[in-house]
Amino acid sequence: MVANPAAQSPTARWEGKKLAEEIYERTTARIDRALAPGRAPPRLASIAVGEGGPFNVYQRQQAKMAAKAHIAFLPSVLPATVGQRELEEKVRALDQDPTVCGVILQHPLPHGLDFLRAVSLLRPEKDVDGVGSENLGRLAAHRPVQVPAVALASRDLLLHYGVRPEGRTVVVVGRSETVGVPTALLFLLRGNEGDATVTIAHSRSKDLDSVLRTGEIIISCVGRPGLLTRANVAQRAYVVDVGLTTTSDPSRPTGVLMQGDANASSLQGWASALTPVPGGVGPVTVANLMANCARGYELLAGTS
Ligand code: NAP
Repeated sequence: MVANPAAQSPTARWEGKKLAEEIYERTTARIDRALAPGRAPPRLASIAVGEGGPFNVYQRQQAKMAAKAHIAFLPSVLPATVGQRELEEKVRALDQDPTVCGVILQHPLPHGLDFLRAVSLLRPEKDVDGVGSENLGRLAAHRPVQVPAVALASRDLLLHYGVRPEGRTVVVVGRSETVGVPTALLFLLRGNEGDATVTIAHSRSKDLDSVLRTGEIIISCVGRPGLLTRANVAQRAYVVDVGLTTTSDPSRPTGVLMQGDANASSLQGWASALTPVPGGVGPVTVANLMANCARGYELLAGTS
């Protein structure tokens, strides 16, 4: 058997921490530039529904990252029994608050609450998660205002490590309106570091393995550990692992095992590059959320 030299090449590990730091630095510089005399510094509001859930943990993380980006943080927790009308009143009030430049509505919401309807009440500049219908529509129409931070993170990681999507085949696995679809649309944008040929796969895709093998770049947004192996990933493909599955594991210092969609040991020596989980897409996503907040601040002041 003839040895294949390409198969022996190590797989690059695309860490996100350094890129995240660069994004924070750019974000604080942007905020400093947008701060006009007499203008209050930016404030990011975050709404969670229900006490004591994972969203309160997210809010603590968001508070830390906001402080790092010089953004004031305004968390609020609504009772788990909140109705759609009260939730929408809260969203509307923050949308109209001139001291707030960005609003995050934590999701999924408890059963019976309509997330898309509530978040779509935000003006697009303040919808820093980029998940309201106007932002999604604008992205599809090649006129983005706020793009979901997780989609930006995938694209930024590729660019940071010198891989331009232009003209390449990109397979996005997952079609949720908050992750998979905006990611695919971002790679499809004309210019703007998009210009890729994009395929979206999902749980109903026929012969997913064959579809995956067409990807020079794979962006996996599923939440299914072990989905990607060398059996369905093309040799030398670039794999951006957005998937994040957490399970309790008392043997770990954090008490939690975090897994992506890729089987890293199977892809080692096969793929060109792989983003680790944790430490790949995650930190870049949070940094981009703060960058979106700075963007909202600039846009609301007409300085962008
Ligand atoms: P979601 O709403 O559950 O969507 C998952 C998508 O994966 C769906 O489109 C689903 O297809 C598809 N899917 C499920 N099983 C599949 C399979 N066996 N083969 C192919 N496709 C399959 O989840 P989400 O909110 O989009 O998030 C996706 C993942 O990204 C999750 O693991 C989440 O934790 C992670 N995430 C990470 C970050 C980060 O910063 N790292 C940020 C956000 C999300 P159908 O549409 O047919 O059901």
